[in-house]
Amino acid sequence: MIMIKIMNTRLRLYVNTFKNKNYINVMSTLLLNKTNLIDYEITYSKNMSRPSKTLVNPNLFNLFSIVKIDPYSEIKEDIITECLNYLNDNFTLENEVESECDYILIDYICLHELYTYIYNCNYNRNVVIRIDDIYNYPKIQFIKLMSMIFLHVVISVSSYKNTTLVVCTDKIHSIKECKQLNIKDFNIKVDQYIINFFYDYNLRHLNKILYVNNIVQGVHSDVIYTELKLINGYINSFINKRHIPCDCLDIYTSVVCNYIVCKRCFRITLFDHFLDFQASEADLNAFL
Ligand SMILES: [Zn+2]
Repeated sequence: MIMIKIMNTRLRLYVNTFKNKNYINVMSTLLLNKTNLIDYEITYSKNMSRPSKTLVNPNLFNLFSIVKIDPYSEIKEDIITECLNYLNDNFTLENEVESECDYILIDYICLHELYTYIYNCNYNRNVVIRIDDIYNYPKIQFIKLMSMIFLHVVISVSSYKNTTLVVCTDKIHSIKECKQLNIKDFNIKVDQYIINFFYDYNLRHLNKILYVNNIVQGVHSDVIYTELKLINGYINSFINKRHIPCDCLDIYTSVVCNYIVCKRCFRITLFDHFLDFQASEADLNAFL
């Protein structure tokens, strides 16, 4: 059920205090333990919640909040496919739910809207909830709440964006009505293993974005634009499992890192000292 990837040592870490001591095993999915629904109260606030120290290292977050380049700016709707690929089951997401087996994708920015959708959901319904940037406590409490009102909940996280899919099967309980826009606190205690999972995930994600921004510092913006477009093309093909026959004669040679990429099929070859090799999925994912 849990997919494991080995982290590449080339990824230099700015802050490397992982909560999960066995951090070499990078988890893309987490099955949530089933817990009974407890009584909870929602408190509200006029403002959006701030990042929590339990979910993200504050120094790293401050550095991250001033970075200029999103290396994965071209990877958009592919993120859903990527996260679903990490799960063992085959999911087909529909706009309209036709049968009880279908999953509907709920993709709102505001937590209040996500909550209200779940509030209005019928029993037995299955949903896939997209949540971006889990840096504050209400979002993680919301995930914990889902594990109490659905029979089965598994989460899957992206390697490219800070995006989490919460796959919820079979709604078995109702939830309280939500009255105001900004939820400050559900007053639910979140299990340590869930907190650790997101802390480590945020740590890896922020480090990766900072690392890329660091290596492209001083590089001409045209070069950055060209290289990131080609790499995004590779990731897009990789996620969607597109393999086209290609003789790879139209090659771009990177001026930033040791790799060449085919401009037509986006196949990437890495160079390591005197030895060149075709990058495996694990190599490339860690490298990017
Ligand atoms: Zn090619």
